[in-house]
Amino acid sequence: LLGKLTDPGLLPAAGYLNGEWIAKSDSGKAFGVTNPANGETIATLPDMGAAETARAIDAAYVAQKQWAAKTAKERSAMLRKLNDLMLAHVDDLAVILTSEMGKPVGEAGGEIRYGASYLEWFAEEAKRIDGDVLPGQQADKRVVVLKQPVGVVGMITPWNFPNAMLARKMAPALAVGCAVVSKPAAQTPLSAIAIAVLCERAGLPAGLFNLIVGTSGSEVGKEMCANPKLRKLSFTGSTEVGRILMRQGADQILKLSLELGGNAPFIVFDDADLDAAAKGAIMSKYRNAGQTCVCANRIYVQDSVYDAFAEKFAAQAEALKGGDGFEDGVDMGPLIDEAGLAKVEDHVADALSKGAKLVTGGSRSNAGALFYQPTVLRNVTREMKVAREETFGPVAPLFRFDTVEDVIEQANATEFGLAAYFYARDLSRVWRVAEALEYGMVGVNTGIISNEGAPFGGVKQSGLGREGSKYGADDYLEMKYVCMGGV
Ligand code: ADP
Repeated sequence: LLGKLTDPGLLPAAGYLNGEWIAKSDSGKAFGVTNPANGETIATLPDMGAAETARAIDAAYVAQKQWAAKTAKERSAMLRKLNDLMLAHVDDLAVILTSEMGKPVGEAGGEIRYGASYLEWFAEEAKRIDGDVLPGQQADKRVVVLKQPVGVVGMITPWNFPNAMLARKMAPALAVGCAVVSKPAAQTPLSAIAIAVLCERAGLPAGLFNLIVGTSGSEVGKEMCANPKLRKLSFTGSTEVGRILMRQGADQILKLSLELGGNAPFIVFDDADLDAAAKGAIMSKYRNAGQTCVCANRIYVQDSVYDAFAEKFAAQAEALKGGDGFEDGVDMGPLIDEAGLAKVEDHVADALSKGAKLVTGGSRSNAGALFYQPTVLRNVTREMKVAREETFGPVAPLFRFDTVEDVIEQANATEFGLAAYFYARDLSRVWRVAEALEYGMVGVNTGIISNEGAPFGGVKQSGLGREGSKYGADDYLEMKYVCMGGV
């Protein structure tokens, strides 16, 4: 992998703790990172755990106080520098990302630019963390509200967006004066290492951004939840692990931001532009080979347009090319690992055994060990696993519905509430459906909703808090009321 980079310095085989590169773990253990497209080992890293995490939190605790004392303009300038560095190295960062995660390299470049957009956004927001002065309740008193950083923040991120999920968390945290202890997924630590290198090159003070790489997510999570110097944990990953962290954080009333699983409905009404709907559904469903928490998971199509939509959609799905992310013209990379692939196979087998009809795909592809064909299923019902669980793979189940009430009920019949999509043109329907969907984000006549200017996040068991937009800094701020008396 190093040979493919114009700047191999972006990839030391080490974690980053208090401004130092740690190539050997306390335990002496190491772990390998593999390319999911071909199974090759591309890096060997120190397997860091709880002890290193505790030291990182100590370092961050000291660094945070000094960082918070800087002016907003100074913090802003640092984030801007980091943004510029990320964009300057977009090609190398995309190569690193595709090598560890598998998505097509063009899509990886898109993710880097998306990640950088949060650095730019919060470089700008850093200067606008305004307090407030409220009317006093007595003649000699004034009510002042200060906004202060929460302190040291732990960040646990998943493998599906190895760059952007970290960038999206660290940008608001650093902007308002917090320090960071981050732990990327064991499958994809390399993009985070490259980010740590850029932090060092940007001149971020030692201890302000720390990176723990390792395989024992639960050990690191426990230390973060129990350590009183860590004041907040921001996690993106499964609802299952989110619940564990919430329980573990209860003892110290840990503040949490959680971006958890989704089970996104994608609804096509009879007044929709069907060509646009099919295109939007393809983008929403098959991006990242179906491995995003906002991917369409259940596609509901109104009775009278079901056949027409299914035909248009399946034709485009069938044309998607799976393969190594570095090959030209590849639309879809591999699944991340054998467990991910097994879940996809299980969902398809379950649906077929209960009467679903295979339109296209339905098996592993010959592009490599972890590849699965773009798959479309018809005649899908709510009794099947694809209706209830997040598939996290390139499988599109097409449900049929009759009335608006019926589809709203089905769309909301899940414990998840992250993203939902629908295509319709009637103005009244658009408003009423958008309001009735119990989701944190709704795409109307679009399959792509993520951007740094919008509040990303879920309701129900999809999480707590919002990332991005003018609201995104709130998650990293405490409000302090100062009562000024004797005026
Ligand atoms: P995914 O399905 O995306 O792999 P996970 O929730 O399993 O989602 O993992 C997301 C992140 O959480 C990864 O960085 C993983 O290492 C970490 N993780 C897994 N289990 C735990 C745990 N018990 N405590 C803390 N972090 C964990």
